[in-house]
Amino acid sequence: MDPNNHYNVIVIGAGPAGLTAGIYLSRARVKTLILNEGTVGGQMVLTHEIANYPGVDSISGYQLSTIMRNQAKKFGCDIKSNIIVETLNLEGDVKEVILADGTRFTADAVILSPGGRSRTLGVKGEDKLKGKGISYCATCDGDFFTEKEIIVVGGGNSALEEAVSLTKYASKVTIVHQFDHFQAFEFAIEEARNHPKINFMMESTITAFHGDEKLEGVEITDLKTGNTQNHPIDGVFIFIGYVPNTEFLKNKIELNKWKEIVVDTDMQTSIRGVFAAGDSIVKRYRQVTTAVADGTIAALAASKYIHELSQNKQLQHTL
Ligand SMILES: Cc1cc2nc3c(=O)[nH]c(=O)nc-3n(C[C@H](O)[C@H](O)[C@H](O)COP(=O)(O)OP(=O)(O)OC[C@H]3O[C@@H](n4cnc5c(N)ncnc54)[C@H](O)[C@@H]3O)c2cc1C
Repeated sequence: MDPNNHYNVIVIGAGPAGLTAGIYLSRARVKTLILNEGTVGGQMVLTHEIANYPGVDSISGYQLSTIMRNQAKKFGCDIKSNIIVETLNLEGDVKEVILADGTRFTADAVILSPGGRSRTLGVKGEDKLKGKGISYCATCDGDFFTEKEIIVVGGGNSALEEAVSLTKYASKVTIVHQFDHFQAFEFAIEEARNHPKINFMMESTITAFHGDEKLEGVEITDLKTGNTQNHPIDGVFIFIGYVPNTEFLKNKIELNKWKEIVVDTDMQTSIRGVFAAGDSIVKRYRQVTTAVADGTIAALAASKYIHELSQNKQLQHTL
């Protein structure tokens, strides 16, 4: 074990869950490293405006991420981003995290907070036209569709809120949703329904994307009748949920059938000394606030665990 690469806690993922864990742990003088594959902030950085984070009137996801990162660093937390975790050895008292470049870190405890990513429709043409008219991020790509007609696919909070935000750019937004009702907060539904630029195609879904170099149109299927129609369209934004980023945890810890990490109320996973937090765990509501809450609990539970671990080691030493 290399003492320079040994930490009390290694946190995997620097979204709001991981950054909060980093803030709590470092402030408690627990030597902590956060390893992050993408941009620090996770899904927050994809969000143009966060208006439901208590105590902050309205803030961009990028700004909130920067504040959280700086807060963690101020307390001494190490953060390494743009890394790839190759493998984990989680059994035993010393946990090992090995990166794709061969760098090896060890820790007394690990917090898993890898979050999730956008779900795709998985229909013909989608892979080919991703980034060529098909997007999963309104903040990133909305501007490309100024004065253009677009479709938003989905019926949850993200779909409705992002549809409204896209009206800043697009001349017309059509929401295509598979059910006859939305699964969103009432105020989000009202805002979309009352917006003059937004139209609805309920009980319908996109079954193919057309175009070669860029998106030219979509095939829409009416789910009641099975009839299909082709529509020319400039852009499609897809907001139909998420997939947890837990592929690297397969056979390492217990996952449920949706590949979410199974935890108890202390965020303890099936392996002693391994905790999890945020969107990747089994839970119903996925928000910045819930990720932050999970990160807090995981950090406090991990602190307690390493304290007990060191006490046990001292006891064994004196016997
Ligand atoms: C478009 C959009 C709008 C949203 N709007 C809001 C909103 O207005 N209000 C709100 O409260 N919530 C909103 N959310 C939801 C909120 O962003 C998420 O619930 C929250 O970011 C989840 O936090 P997390 O820390 O669990 O995971 P994430 O934010 O997903 O962060 C996980 C991090 O872990 C990294 N990672 C993944 N796998 C690995 C690995 N193997 N090794 C190392 N790092 C890894 C990822 O790259 C990422 O940086 C929105 C989400 C989206 C997509």
